[in-house]
Amino acid sequence: MYPFAYTKPADTAAVLAAGARGGRYIAGGTTLVDLMRETVERPGTLVDISGLPLEDVRDTARGLRIGALARMADVAAHPRVRAAYPVLTQSLELAASPQLRNMATIDGNILQRTRCTYFRDVSAACNKRRPGSGCAALDGYNRSHAILGTSDACVATHPSDLTVALAALAASVHLLGPDGEREVALTEFLLQPGDTRTASTTCGEVN
Ligand SMILES: Cc1cc2nc3c(=O)[nH]c(=O)nc-3n(C[C@H](O)[C@H](O)[C@H](O)COP(=O)(O)OP(=O)(O)OC[C@H]3O[C@@H](n4cnc5c(N)ncnc54)[C@H](O)[C@@H]3O)c2cc1C
Repeated sequence: MYPFAYTKPADTAAVLAAGARGGRYIAGGTTLVDLMRETVERPGTLVDISGLPLEDVRDTARGLRIGALARMADVAAHPRVRAAYPVLTQSLELAASPQLRNMATIDGNILQRTRCTYFRDVSAACNKRRPGSGCAALDGYNRSHAILGTSDACVATHPSDLTVALAALAASVHLLGPDGEREVALTEFLLQPGDTRTASTTCGEVN
């Protein structure tokens, strides 16, 4: 590990301000801390958003709204989700382990970075981790990589089981930034596997 700063702002405005100063958001930490330990990611400041009141799961006129910080385990077990959106429960209960699902959040799941072995191996070429360095997966162990939507720069799939179910349900994400809130279709928000950008989404350089 290496030295980094840590802050836990009390409200959304302070979280956004800390993010605008270059801080990296951390929710359950089940992916980001791993990546920091492996020095794949080296954020200077962690902005802990886990104290924000964003855990609600509720019905709205347009369908189910899941709070960004709802835990995977809680969403999977939610009576309304189980009854009306069983595919979400199934996708969540197949993912990771009970311990991880108790800690991990829905936004962290959607925004997790690729689990491609070569992305996580800092000695390997990876256009997602170091743009322009190449893609070791193309001629390496690539059994679990993407077949559709790839390019000669990247073949990594998105690692979230939940996003597949959400895409099938035509879900959208609500983004909050300095310019207010906006809604984006999930399938437009996430990049295609072959995209050479180092980001995971269409809305940011890292996340
Ligand atoms: C051993 C293991 C097995 C796993 N198996 C599976 C599996 O089978 N299927 C599956 O789907 N997943 C799997 N996962 C991934 C797991 O689901 C994720 O680690 C988890 O969902 C991440 O949630 P988190 O809240 O801990 O995110 P964090 O680690 O806190 O964050 C993840 C990323 O999202 C960013 N982020 C979080 N919140 C925000 C926000 N509000 N705005 C902007 N950026 C944000 C962070 O900066 C970070 O880059 C596995 C993980 C592990 C460790």
